[in-house]
Amino acid sequence: MKKRIIALGLIVVLLSVTTLFTTSILSTIKDNKITTKEEITSYLSIALNNYDGTNHLEVSNVLVEANSKIRVTFIDLNGNVIYDTLHDNESMMENHLSRDEIKHLGQIFIRDSKTFGIKMMYIADLSNNTYIRVSLEMVIFTPNLINYIVLGIITIIIIMLLSTLLMNVLSKKIIRPINDSINTLEMILNNNDSELRIKTVDDLPKIVNLIKKELERKIIQIEDEVAKNEALLKEMQQGLILLSDNNINIINNQALNVFKVSKEKIINKSYLYLIRDKELQDLIETCINFKKSSSKTLEINNRYYYFIIRSFNYNWIKCGTLITFIDITEKQKIEQMKKDFFANASHELKSPLTSIIGYQQMINNGIISDKEEINKASSQILKEANRMNQIIIDMLELSNLEYKKDYAMEFLDIAMILNDIILRYDNKIKDKNITVKKNITHCYLNANKEQIETLFSNLIDNAIKYNKINGSIEIILNEEMFVIKDSGIGISNSDQERVFERFYRVDKAKSKLIGGTGLGLAIVKHICEKFNYKVRLDSILDVGTQIKIIFKC
Ligand code: ADP
Repeated sequence: MKKRIIALGLIVVLLSVTTLFTTSILSTIKDNKITTKEEITSYLSIALNNYDGTNHLEVSNVLVEANSKIRVTFIDLNGNVIYDTLHDNESMMENHLSRDEIKHLGQIFIRDSKTFGIKMMYIADLSNNTYIRVSLEMVIFTPNLINYIVLGIITIIIIMLLSTLLMNVLSKKIIRPINDSINTLEMILNNNDSELRIKTVDDLPKIVNLIKKELERKIIQIEDEVAKNEALLKEMQQGLILLSDNNINIINNQALNVFKVSKEKIINKSYLYLIRDKELQDLIETCINFKKSSSKTLEINNRYYYFIIRSFNYNWIKCGTLITFIDITEKQKIEQMKKDFFANASHELKSPLTSIIGYQQMINNGIISDKEEINKASSQILKEANRMNQIIIDMLELSNLEYKKDYAMEFLDIAMILNDIILRYDNKIKDKNITVKKNITHCYLNANKEQIETLFSNLIDNAIKYNKINGSIEIILNEEMFVIKDSGIGISNSDQERVFERFYRVDKAKSKLIGGTGLGLAIVKHICEKFNYKVRLDSILDVGTQIKIIFKC
């Protein structure tokens, strides 16, 4: 490489200097020619001016004195030489009319002299009926020019030597960074393949191309990774916020949706713009300052989120804090429901139990001694015990529905089952003098018998319990649905939303009096959910209630 640079440099210098030198020599030669032309012309004009037709010797001597190398020839109009300073007989004998300079008077001609065998310049003109011809040797390489050429060649040699030295130094300077780059390229390639080793600079394009391809491959790989990570962040159920110091570095879609902000508005800004809860802010601050992890449940827009805050330190992030959160609204609701259920269940069981204990203590302590009163208390105890029993049966039923997965399904004659159940309530119907209108068509369903019976029983029981004396019940059954419509007390709009909750009763005292547990409709709802039936409740206060169960949704 170095040698090449030097050789190339020297060729360039040599070409430049030689061109310059040759040009100057050619120019000098041209100048010499012009000088000779001017000289010969002036000699001719001296001769013409001084010649009187006879004094050719005098005129010749004047010119020869001026320039010893000059040759003057006097020729008569017939072309015969009258006088020639050279006294060359052979030449003098020749007729000169055919000579160019005689044919074209006043014009300069250059040709080899027959006499001297050298290049001569000729010019002639007419004076006093005589052609006067002046000729002069054409000296191309004058002594000055020869000196100049010798000096020039020496200068070129010196320039070449100096250039070699300079090129040497320069090439080292040029090559060093190239060598460094080659080393770096080899390090980037990090290959042991001898084929790919950089031996000469000519290998560079091949290697650079290889590195370009490798870089392109790596870029595609990185872009792929970025796309994957972005998709992961986007699709993950958790909300994710990554802070660098106090600023939001990464935030995923879930987090943006929960906080209802756009990414552009929040990215690279302090988390304080996003998180307004003071307690959560304090936990984040503690994590930033003391790297302490923590967690907290926070309510945002009526939903509950469980936040985990922890320190996150990697090379690419300075003082990172990772905030992740999940929506626990459903879990929270279930937990709340469980709490409510246990509180309600204990309460519901406690009141009959208190009555039972109270009556029993009154009997034991002799407060009630009269036989009739004791019988009354005993029947009250039995009633309360039955109520407790009913609550426990309903609770077990609910628990079964929640946890039991497999129910024996069979092709059932639903119409027959419904008619049987209506028959079971015959006494209660008669007690209230309720008119029952049935529109029961053949209906066969693949269902669980026990659950279907519970479903019908609970709804018929309610339609009787909450009906008026002399009221009416209309029952419709077909392949599509079961409808039960009563002319009872009805349910207000606000209560309609809640009657399917466990232990919820519109009028607790009344319900208790008529033997309700507050679990009947909750069981209905669970059965429908389990077997994919739809429940619809329509009710008008004091007019009546209609409950529709759609079997095939
Ligand atoms: P309960 O055992 O008290 O009847 P349910 O869960 O069956 O419990 O019903 C919940 C509440 O809904 C009842 O306490 C009652 O106030 C109301 N309810 C249910 N069915 C009817 C109906 N057909 N007419 C009027 N109110 C009803």
